[in-house]
Amino acid sequence: MSEVRNLIIVGSGPAGLTAALYAARADLGPLVIEGEPSSTTDQPGGALMTTTEVENFPGFPDGVLGPDLMARFRDQAARFGTTYEMARVERVDLARSPFGLWVGDPHADEPTHLARALIVATGAKPVMLGLEGEQELVGHGVSTCATCDGFFFRDHDIVVVGGGDSAVEEALFLTKFARSVTIVHRRDELRASKIMQARALAHDKIRFRWNSVVEALHGDTKLEGVTLRDVLTGERTPLAATGLFVAIGHRPNTDIFKGQLEMDGGGYLITGPGTRTNVDGVFACGDVQDHVYRQAITAAGSGCAAAIDAERWLEAGTA
Ligand code: NAP
Repeated sequence: MSEVRNLIIVGSGPAGLTAALYAARADLGPLVIEGEPSSTTDQPGGALMTTTEVENFPGFPDGVLGPDLMARFRDQAARFGTTYEMARVERVDLARSPFGLWVGDPHADEPTHLARALIVATGAKPVMLGLEGEQELVGHGVSTCATCDGFFFRDHDIVVVGGGDSAVEEALFLTKFARSVTIVHRRDELRASKIMQARALAHDKIRFRWNSVVEALHGDTKLEGVTLRDVLTGERTPLAATGLFVAIGHRPNTDIFKGQLEMDGGGYLITGPGTRTNVDGVFACGDVQDHVYRQAITAAGSGCAAAIDAERWLEAGTA
């Protein structure tokens, strides 16, 4: 039988590692189950692992590379006794006490790990277009976050894909920097709220390509242009662009919690008061429960809150 830990944290982005730092300094000896390296990074660590320069994380006046920032988070939490396991959680049982977590074989009789309290910090993935070269060009012209990267696109011609509030909000934000912004939408009507639509339609830097999709990306080491396809006529047209912002939605990483933790229609975990979920002793922080702000600093802040909530819950002896 595996030992019962006070606290396990699932996820190793800014939320999970900040939770680990606070929990370790509270002597909870947390284990972080980090996830596995993705196809584009050799380390887990969340969305910042695929980000180049981060200029909006306070405390770094000269900016910092995303992977370097995460390495610092990781080292800081390790210094106070956090331990790490590079693995994916395949299954959880939150009905039992202590909670059970399976890594490796999800059908094994016994869980791999047992924990009195659990912090879920599994993040959310931006939905991508799935085009050849897209992943390789992330950070080199392709982005999913205008707030993070817009500043690097001064005087660029930019394409934004999507027709929802995110796409229109990103396009409006990017007009501060860009020479032109073209919103490419697969229908002839936006899904975004009317007020956002009105702003975008009236903006002299924003153009629209209706009933169109991005079919191909051009450029080896950085984006140089795209091919658009009209979905009604099939006509293909090239468009010179050095920025592509993909804003077709996010998918929170919550599959393993389905049926156990309460989620909204988009699959985001529902929290409150504080970082509590519907299961006593399970807390959630970062993008897995936030579809509004999605910033490293807000994720880190909620990770701190989750560790404090978990610590107080354990202290109260409710485990
Ligand atoms: P969303 O509302 O789901 O919109 C996604 C958009 O991407 C849709 O226009 C969709 O087209 C398009 N799309 C989806 N898959 C595509 C594909 N494979 N290729 C091309 N286009 C594709 O997502 P969101 O804009 O990220 O917003 C998520 C939620 O957050 C919404 O509830 C939104 O209102 C909210 N939000 C609010 C604000 C704000 O109020 N300031 C800002 C951002 C987000 P179709 O329209 O054809 O389906």
